[in-house]
Amino acid sequence: MINTETLFKISYGLYIVCSGNKTEGNGFISNTVFQISSQPAKFAISCNKNNYTGDLIKKHNNFSVSVLGSQTPKEIFSCFAYRSGKGIDKFEGKEIRYGQSGVPIVLDSAIATLEFSLENTYDEGTHIIFIGTLVESTLIDNNAEAMTYCYYREHFGAKAQKNAPTYIEDVVVEENSTQGLRYKCTICNYIHDNANESTEFVNLPEDWTCPLCGAEKSEFTEI
Ligand code: FE
Repeated sequence: MINTETLFKISYGLYIVCSGNKTEGNGFISNTVFQISSQPAKFAISCNKNNYTGDLIKKHNNFSVSVLGSQTPKEIFSCFAYRSGKGIDKFEGKEIRYGQSGVPIVLDSAIATLEFSLENTYDEGTHIIFIGTLVESTLIDNNAEAMTYCYYREHFGAKAQKNAPTYIEDVVVEENSTQGLRYKCTICNYIHDNANESTEFVNLPEDWTCPLCGAEKSEFTEI
């Protein structure tokens, strides 16, 4: 048997992975960035095939990684984690610099940044593994702690977004759950639990939005 809770015992960081150049670029939140060799330093990332940034990596042969600090505000996740970059500019209002290859690098909330040239791609069903060689890295804040996936789950009440390799679809309905008490955001899986909130969901104003991803109230479903 596979107990899905065991999967959350594996530690991850959280990163913004970007690709492209000054005229077309995009980025997304990733928890799967890991070093696979030291000489030369090569890293792997996992990217959903539906992810626009993945298309850009294949086109521009580059990607950057911004290591997020533990104090990263939820607005960063709202921007980079739960919406596609197709048709919107995720970089608007953000502090961006461009690397040696022209790849955009997000500086907001970053404690370190790394730039890679694409070496290999591996098709793994729903996801593509991109292998990159490190060409440049910059330390921004040596004292700040990096954000961990565990911290994010605990403090933001969120689960993995649907494109994440660690996403697990909710298929089990708790038999003893009480109808009408909990509402889940269908975009980010944030849960408004009436038992823990000062305002019951039905009494929230119609212009209320998801505190995590900014989705409208209508995007919530009763669970
Ligand atoms: Fe949400």
